[in-house]
Amino acid sequence: MTINGVDGDPKPHFVLVPFLAQGHIIPMTDFGILLASRGATVSLIITPVNAARIRTTIDRATAAGLPIRFVELRFPCAEVGLPEGFENIDVLTTQKQTQYGKNFLRACFLLQRPLEHYIEQQSPRPSCIIADLFQHWTRHVARNLRLPRLTFVCSCTFTLLSDHNIWRSNVLDNVKDDKEPFEIPGLEQRILVTKPEVPGFFAGWDELREEIRQAEFEADGIVANTFEAIEAPYITGYAEAMQKQVWSVGPFLLGCTPAISDKAARGNRAVVDVPQCLSWLDSKEANSVVYASFGSQTHMNLAQLTEIGSGLEAAGHPFVLVIKDGERSRDVEEWAVALEEKVGPSKALLIRGWAPQVVLLSHPAVGAFITHCGWNSTLESITAGVPMITWPHFADHFLIERLMVEVLEIGVSLGVKVPMSWTDHDKQGPVVPRDALEEAVRSLLDEGREEGKKMRVRVRELREKAKEAMAEGGSSYRNMTHLIEQCAQNGKEGGKNH
Ligand code: UDP
Repeated sequence: MTINGVDGDPKPHFVLVPFLAQGHIIPMTDFGILLASRGATVSLIITPVNAARIRTTIDRATAAGLPIRFVELRFPCAEVGLPEGFENIDVLTTQKQTQYGKNFLRACFLLQRPLEHYIEQQSPRPSCIIADLFQHWTRHVARNLRLPRLTFVCSCTFTLLSDHNIWRSNVLDNVKDDKEPFEIPGLEQRILVTKPEVPGFFAGWDELREEIRQAEFEADGIVANTFEAIEAPYITGYAEAMQKQVWSVGPFLLGCTPAISDKAARGNRAVVDVPQCLSWLDSKEANSVVYASFGSQTHMNLAQLTEIGSGLEAAGHPFVLVIKDGERSRDVEEWAVALEEKVGPSKALLIRGWAPQVVLLSHPAVGAFITHCGWNSTLESITAGVPMITWPHFADHFLIERLMVEVLEIGVSLGVKVPMSWTDHDKQGPVVPRDALEEAVRSLLDEGREEGKKMRVRVRELREKAKEAMAEGGSSYRNMTHLIEQCAQNGKEGGKNH
């Protein structure tokens, strides 16, 4: 890979292009802050609605004098027939507006010219584009402006390598039906999956999938929010498969100082009073609380919420349950109030809207996390030292679950086998019954359950390894140094053409 330096100024300038979804903007923002904290100049491309959501972080980074700019490009909703303000994929998914999916992607694509214009105006000229895997159109920007481009992935390399190997080997051609388990080729460990579990990223989006694959192959390298201690063989395997350098430089979260990155307002302002939540948790014993939250895009209907509430109640441990804005309705509110009354405020904390997830998970009272296996939530659980109860919904979730449950053994599976349906999930019956939830919570939190204890020890070891990776001299720290130095070196040489 060659990254252009800047004549007379060896300090590299990275242009970061996140995909406009919470699970992508949050890690890209962390990454930008990390790069800037290490002396690089950063332009992070964002749109007005999304910028408003991370205003606290923008303000803190600016006040701290970090060399990071948040560049707001207008999102062309009107041009593609999207309602104004539909600037984040969560508006489409949680508000069940999935019919706008293709318009949303077209609007992203239309950012190409404004982005080129921004880059062309910069003097000195930026050194490198780092764009989300889903922003595949940035490959045209890089080519037109003769800039190197790295792909930014918001998943683990275990998932990426599995997806790649399944595709390369054509193993799916010999799988009879959706129920037949098959082994993922080329992995160190024998991992069995079914067709609906993989490749879940792009079900129904074949065209997008091909564009992304092309962009991935054309990229000059890959940046991943991961670290060697959890998946070294897969980082290496993916680098070999792609014939490119994979820079594992995470978990970013641990590199961001509280002075700049407000952990209570990651991706959005929390709807609850954070000190009040913390004092609720302070009143609980260590490892006694279960935290249940399913990211920014899944959707739970009333039937499923009812099972979750009953399962949590039956397990008998205090719990925090997050109900997304898009899941709320009069019926859901009636159910929520009834649950709170039945279980009592000292045992049930229901959050309606955006939760300060990282802050809550990091509290010593939290002993288990029921998660949809989004990669950010997963890393947050590991870095908080909390074992998981896994409930994959779609995309890469099923493979991330395998990494947590079968490879690292820090999660208990709820046994979900079928991806969530976007089209008729309101009519669907519950996917996970209350008994399964109760048993999973008990297995991690009840006194005397060995599996819970063992998982807690293992996940805490990984938490320490994550800290080591991000500390000065650690693997992720060193990888970040190399990434920046490579740019700086090219800068001293007067810039190299890509
Ligand atoms: N998140 C949060 N509060 C919420 C819901 C989500 O802070 O109420 C954050 C969560 O901590 C994580 C991100 O949003 O950083 C979700 O990313 P993930 O990859 O876990 O799931 P996705 O939303 O992409 O499915």
